[in-house]
Amino acid sequence: MIINLKDFLNSKELRAQYNLTIDKNLLDLDDTIRLTKDVECGVFVYKTDDNIYSEVKLSYKYGDHCARCNEELENLVSTDFNVTINGSTEEDDFNVALIDDKIDLTDLIKQSIYLSKPLKVLCKEDCKGICIKCGSNKNYDECDCNDETIDPRLESLVKLLDKEV
Ligand SMILES: [Zn+2]
Ligand SMILES: [Zn+2]
Repeated sequence: MIINLKDFLNSKELRAQYNLTIDKNLLDLDDTIRLTKDVECGVFVYKTDDNIYSEVKLSYKYGDHCARCNEELENLVSTDFNVTINGSTEEDDFNVALIDDKIDLTDLIKQSIYLSKPLKVLCKEDCKGICIKCGSNKNYDECDCNDETIDPRLESLVKLLDKEV
């Protein structure tokens, strides 16, 4: 995702804002994340006496499964990062190169998506999960299994699993 800062750099303006929508397919993310919508991105650029900085806010939606009941879901994540815009071509997590008055934020945006994606999500806060006796989804089915007959060792395992979420 390339932004041309030429007009901003030649102007007396101290700030500029660019709102962009990035085609999810053009980001070419790996198999660990499946975007279900294009990525919305707000890029704020500002000048100080000796540097140019940028704050990038982005939000994306991806498909996943509930960590408790395994139901498919879509999760929306908002995240942001800050970078210094360099006159040089040196780039790292905190610096982006300014080449011909343009910056390319693609790699930093990809990295930010990988880092901000939660390891586990729930379909809803109070997801009841799956019955460990009959395997039915307890959010939908009132099964007849009697919780009191659960092996106490299994019960503590279930509590442990719940805590990890
Ligand atoms: Zn669930
Ligand atoms: Zn059951």
